[in-house]
Amino acid sequence: MLKDLRSLNYNEMSTEIINLGFPKFRVNQIFSWVHEKCVESFDEMTNLSKEMRSQLADHFYITRLNVNTKLISKLDDTVKYLFVLPDGEYVESVVMKYKYGYSICISTQVGCKMGCKFCASAIGGFVRQLSVGEMLSEIYTAQNDLKIKINHLVLMGTGEPLDNYDNVIKMIELISDEKGQNMSMRHISLSTCGIVPRIYDLAEKKYGLTLSISLHAPNNRIRSMSMPINKSYDIDELLKACRYYSEYTGRRISFEYAMIKDVNDSDDCALELADKLKGMLCHVNLIPVNNVRETSYVKSSVERQKKFIDILSSRGITATVRRTLGSDINASCGQLRASKRNK
Ligand code: SAH
Repeated sequence: MLKDLRSLNYNEMSTEIINLGFPKFRVNQIFSWVHEKCVESFDEMTNLSKEMRSQLADHFYITRLNVNTKLISKLDDTVKYLFVLPDGEYVESVVMKYKYGYSICISTQVGCKMGCKFCASAIGGFVRQLSVGEMLSEIYTAQNDLKIKINHLVLMGTGEPLDNYDNVIKMIELISDEKGQNMSMRHISLSTCGIVPRIYDLAEKKYGLTLSISLHAPNNRIRSMSMPINKSYDIDELLKACRYYSEYTGRRISFEYAMIKDVNDSDDCALELADKLKGMLCHVNLIPVNNVRETSYVKSSVERQKKFIDILSSRGITATVRRTLGSDINASCGQLRASKRNK
């Protein structure tokens, strides 16, 4: 069976290529074609002979994504892709332009098992894991298509990254490999709904990345209503893991909190949240909940958001409202794929 070259890290590629009888210096060349120059075919590897290229093609393939839909925001140049995977499934990625460069938000699974009530990605359930090569291809394809260098990565698209732990870890190590894209760990954010044992595993890696926690509630009563994961790992276990993570790695945790009108946006919720996060190296990111067609949740008012922030700040917790990009193209993940599935 053919193997995906894009899913191999340097050591694996090295073993495979040397086993084929290639001299060692060829490994660096091939790794660079695959992960630095992001080519999609063996024919583009112009410093290899025709024979070598055909030998590679006998043993390997390179994962390719096709662009099914590409939407460009007229407001802020945000680009949203609906990619087709080799087996015909769809994934979404969003490229955002910031002052500091380009950032991409990628999916880590096809669908999601987590079932959060407010989330478009949960609709239709889980289909399958994304491979290392497929996740990298979201980045490489967007980069090639837009002819840009993407230097920030956000694992906040469809799927739960810590539920595809091994592939996500390998992908993170590959994208930050200095022989490949050489992306700084400091430029990577990973968002989780709170799979507690994997948070401890991730802490052990001591990566410089930013861990984001989708908290969305200050207590178990509210959190369990919209996030089923809270029944497996409750808020106290989760926050204990977060405290451990930030102390062990020295990295600030980012808490995502989608403000939902009359659900989690009261003054009491803010007070309870401030109390739970007291003393932790953290930041709260308020997100005005996106009105997903399939749910009845409504955004909190701007006044509510401001009051919430005031209460948190007065108790020493820094909080900001996340900027919305690409609002004219439904740029939040899951929405495009969900609309495809409904057709
Ligand atoms: N599974 C991961 C990453 C995917 S979700 C996680 O749960 O963190 C990415 C972020 O978008 C999460 O914080 C998620 O809770 C949030 N989100 C999902 N649906 C949303 C909506 N309708 N409005 C605002 N934020 C939403």
